[in-house]
Amino acid sequence: MKKSDSKISNGKGWISRLESGIYILSVNDQANLMTSFHDFIQKHELTAGKVSGIGAVNRATLRFFDPETKKYIDREFKEQMELANLTGNISMIEDKPVAHLHATFGRRDYTALAGHLLDASIRGACELFVKPIEAVIEKQMDSSIG
Ligand code: FE
Repeated sequence: MKKSDSKISNGKGWISRLESGIYILSVNDQANLMTSFHDFIQKHELTAGKVSGIGAVNRATLRFFDPETKKYIDREFKEQMELANLTGNISMIEDKPVAHLHATFGRRDYTALAGHLLDASIRGACELFVKPIEAVIEKQMDSSIG
């Protein structure tokens, strides 16, 4: 099959190609992953979808939710790590698209860190697959969970 330029798009720190209904998304070296990913979502007007990926970072902030206190505990890690797995989804909260991403990072000593991904800086490369779902998935607050 011939590669069509119309399938290719780019934006703030990223380039993507649409193949078989899946976006192949590359986030640039030294780009902010969340900024670039939200720019990608907005450019393609995605309202729902599935995300998976791999890559490498030199900084990441993970978030842990404590259901007892209903509070978040954030922690930043400044070191070179493999983004061993990125998984998550795209949905809507109050008419705005949001990405809910979880990450597993491999450290230099081959141990792993994992959690809800709040922020990350790419150092190396980042390769994502994004499968859009032709629907609006709206999240609503459950006050019993927070
Ligand atoms: Fe989460």
